[in-house]
Amino acid sequence: MICEIAQLGAPVLRQTAEAVSDVHDAEIRRIIEAMQSTLATTSGVGIAAPQIGESTRIIIIASRPTPRYPSAPLMEPTVMINPGFRILSDRQEKDWEGCLSVPGIRALVPRFQEIGIHYTDQQGDLVESKLSGFVARIFQHEYDHLEGKTYLDRVENNTDIFAESEFVKLVAGRNT
Ligand code: ZN
Repeated sequence: MICEIAQLGAPVLRQTAEAVSDVHDAEIRRIIEAMQSTLATTSGVGIAAPQIGESTRIIIIASRPTPRYPSAPLMEPTVMINPGFRILSDRQEKDWEGCLSVPGIRALVPRFQEIGIHYTDQQGDLVESKLSGFVARIFQHEYDHLEGKTYLDRVENNTDIFAESEFVKLVAGRNT
């Protein structure tokens, strides 16, 4: 099932999402499948359940080079249930982010570069891992959706917010 992406201003994007108690529950399976098929129709590199209108603690990280993120590293799409993280290094870096729920906008967002993550996988097993750089950035972006935040809430200065058309010019200019 392909879902509509909740857009900035939708109340579901401002709620704290509910923890999943049973990963094998049919409703949870349905939400995961809807997130997978919806993400596949976009050029996004991640999605959180609230973005398809489900206030549930599930995210998918699917880093891959796309027209939106040409230099993203390739990884298997990973479903993370009840995810959490801790900061391994205080170092933050600003880089560009966009969001399927915030169309037409890109902004520079500070994120921690090294994080230790944990989540429950679709089999119900606890997984622990370390993420760095761009993939750590995607994780923190999607995690924020579960806390009712968008990346615009992390922007330090309004001058760091660009229209997508201006962002494209900036990146094109940088590459020539
Ligand atoms: Zn987003």
